[in-house]
Amino acid sequence: MEPITYRLNPDGPAAATYYRAVSAFTDDVLLNAEGSITPLARAYRRYLVEFGLEDPRSLEEYTFELLNLGILWRTYGRIALSVEIAPFRSLAYLAEWRKKHQRLKPAIDVVRGVVMSFFLVPFNPVRIETPPRDLGDLECLVRWLDATGDFREDALRFVRWLAFWASFDRERFAESMLAVLTFADWFEAVSGERMGSYTPNVTSFVQQQTPFYRWREDRFSCLRSRVEYHLNMVGAEILNRAFRDEFLIAERKTVLLPGCMRFHAEDACEGKKTKEGIRCTGCEPSCSVNRIRVIGLREHFDVMVIPHSSDLSRWGRKAGEPATGVVGVACLSVLVQGGWELKRHGAAAQCVLLNECGCKKHWHREGFPTQLDVRELKRVVKPDNGTRTARDSTAKPA
Ligand code: SF4
Repeated sequence: MEPITYRLNPDGPAAATYYRAVSAFTDDVLLNAEGSITPLARAYRRYLVEFGLEDPRSLEEYTFELLNLGILWRTYGRIALSVEIAPFRSLAYLAEWRKKHQRLKPAIDVVRGVVMSFFLVPFNPVRIETPPRDLGDLECLVRWLDATGDFREDALRFVRWLAFWASFDRERFAESMLAVLTFADWFEAVSGERMGSYTPNVTSFVQQQTPFYRWREDRFSCLRSRVEYHLNMVGAEILNRAFRDEFLIAERKTVLLPGCMRFHAEDACEGKKTKEGIRCTGCEPSCSVNRIRVIGLREHFDVMVIPHSSDLSRWGRKAGEPATGVVGVACLSVLVQGGWELKRHGAAAQCVLLNECGCKKHWHREGFPTQLDVRELKRVVKPDNGTRTARDSTAKPA
């Protein structure tokens, strides 16, 4: 069967193909960024330290945030500028409530879908060629991203960037925007060549399915552009590298799997519901969740199944307790946001991608059990398996 949008293992196991390719590509992106946007990321890091605004994170994370801003501006800037009146705050609150109140989620999602589509998407996104004229344009984008709920983590990070750019004069602001967008354009072109073999159907899916998602709350996560898929591939790799050491020293490790990996549908799964999620009871030996649970028993990690868009704060660090190492598993359209959210709550996070998307709720009429690359999961969880770099990559040209 053709992939719905992306597939990580079209030519062999993802651990031997995709994960090596993305590692090598990420190294090249960061190398190229050195002569382009990394100096800006470095200045921003110094600014955060000087004003004590946050514990400084790695330079690579800030570089990725700039790349992310460039791609999101190109993709959603026009639409964000066109929306003048909308219940921005209410939509952002609704997005949080649905995570905290899972029983109300179906009803909230219907309301969000309609309100969001009516106010936030007056027309289908069309790429914007011009850069932000001033800080006001960027503020429009950030406010819009926050209201969608799907880009909340991005918006939270961009708010601090806005404060940084507020100290720039007009000329310096324009220069920095030019650098960000030039790099984003380079990324779009090169990522298509390097990672495009893993995302063959994204564009056709978006073209054909846009009317279907018109009034749905998952329209942004399901209708992401191809370059956003590539962006999230690199983002997941950068976050994994950045959070690796913290994860490795965490004594307790838990792997959070999405419900769509289960062999049985929700009503037939015999997993036990707990406050933290669903604990697999092994009712079906060939179920992927069960297989990972068995590996976890051997390799000393816990496994939980959690619903899509769960509140991840329960996995955060509690006062007086050591951090839990959490491996989040999700499809490409939401993985980076989940990693950022876990980090915001103080969890020591790593992430592993689903090999492809396929859940009934969002992607496929009947749905099918999704999979991940078990070798990659083992590499991520085990302390002695280290961090992959380009040096140990034998990336296949994509
Ligand atoms: S094996 Fe576990 S996760 Fe899979 S369907 Fe049964 S109880 Fe649910």
